[in-house]
Amino acid sequence: MKYFSLNHKSPKTSFKQAVINGIAPDKGLYFPENIPQLEHDFFEKIENYSNQEIAFKVIKPFIENEIPDEKLKEIIAETLSFDFPTIKVNETTYSLELFHGPTMAFKDVGAYFMARCLGYFNHIDKSSHSTVLVATSGDTGGAVASGFLGVEGVQVVILYPSGKVSDIQEKQLTTLGQNINALEIDGVFDDCQDMVKIAFLDEDFRELNLTSANSINIARWLPQMFYYFFAYKQLKHLGKELVVSVPSGNFGNICAGMLAQKMGLPIKQFIASTNINDTVPNYLNTGNYELRNSKPTISNAMDVGNPSNFIRIKELFEQSFSDLKQGLKSYSFTDAQTKEAMKELYNEYDYIADPHGAVGYLGLEKYKSEEKTNSEVGVFLETAHPCKFIDVVESTLNLKVEIPHKIAEIIDKKKVSVKAKSYEDLKAFLLNK
Ligand SMILES: *Cc1c(COP(=O)(O)O)cnc(C)c1O
Repeated sequence: MKYFSLNHKSPKTSFKQAVINGIAPDKGLYFPENIPQLEHDFFEKIENYSNQEIAFKVIKPFIENEIPDEKLKEIIAETLSFDFPTIKVNETTYSLELFHGPTMAFKDVGAYFMARCLGYFNHIDKSSHSTVLVATSGDTGGAVASGFLGVEGVQVVILYPSGKVSDIQEKQLTTLGQNINALEIDGVFDDCQDMVKIAFLDEDFRELNLTSANSINIARWLPQMFYYFFAYKQLKHLGKELVVSVPSGNFGNICAGMLAQKMGLPIKQFIASTNINDTVPNYLNTGNYELRNSKPTISNAMDVGNPSNFIRIKELFEQSFSDLKQGLKSYSFTDAQTKEAMKELYNEYDYIADPHGAVGYLGLEKYKSEEKTNSEVGVFLETAHPCKFIDVVESTLNLKVEIPHKIAEIIDKKKVSVKAKSYEDLKAFLLNK
């Protein structure tokens, strides 16, 4: 499989090179040159396959022989070491829980998979090495730190805004050691993001082979397809059509789901549910794509004004606005609505949702009321464990959230970070590594 740049100015490249580059030289996102089709028979028998077998079948055509089968199976096994249950909320609604991974954020799958692909490529090119540079406002950093820990030939440098991430999130970034370095920036998330952007253009870092670990990288984006196959496998026996609502920020996750659908996965409708950062719902309503500054909300992993993966969704629909409007419904919700949804889920159905999952639930409800339909089964993706957003969950629902052991144990570990005030500080740190 070859990958082309959506800016169409860079040459096509291999899976390996696209993973190493992250973004194409012309600054475009990589996209597969064709979309593999899975045979009907696979879907007929999907319940006979294990999750790991499904993942192998789905990702193999995107990698072909660039990673040997045995190695690819090993990477998949390490990436999918936990469950992805669909929990029944009511007769027509299920929650697909993606938070049972090591850092309890759905980004674990993408981060683990990408880290192991990069580690394998470094391993076969003995002398090769890379530096992963990432800015985080919270969850991404933890998943990346955990996913890349101890991976051969990779140094990880995570920039986070001092005092602006939760205690648990900070500990997830700063306590692992080995090849994971945390830079504590005196500023806000946008300052971290700006420094990372400048660093990628800085010729002085040529030798470091800087790469990013955000959802732009195809090795983080593509494995997110797996979730949707796992949902189908579990809910197929209901014999109903599936409607899937994805709480969306950078639109990487939903874009992977829509790619799965184009490969043949029977999903009737996708819904992109957002908070008040409504660039996409607004675009689908008006046809105008207006970039905005992001606004803070209680579902803050989705506070994105310019969703980086949306351009890939447009490509899936071959740039046709009318097809896109058919294939993707999108709605936005306020924090007040999100809290109401959390209460409804808890009081009526005994389900504790985090604010991101609640936004997903709202999207399903809105779709049902607009389409006046009840014949389908709705699935919303629950992208974070409630303990990751414990303050909002506890104050909204008036209860205590139990912190799972694997998260709680980190609290007592010692934080190690390097403070940085300016780009020069970042530069000095990277050049000394
Ligand atoms: C990253 C994230 C999202 C948004 O996913 P995108 O792929 O950026 O759309 C939703 N929920 C949580 C908890 C996240 O961490």
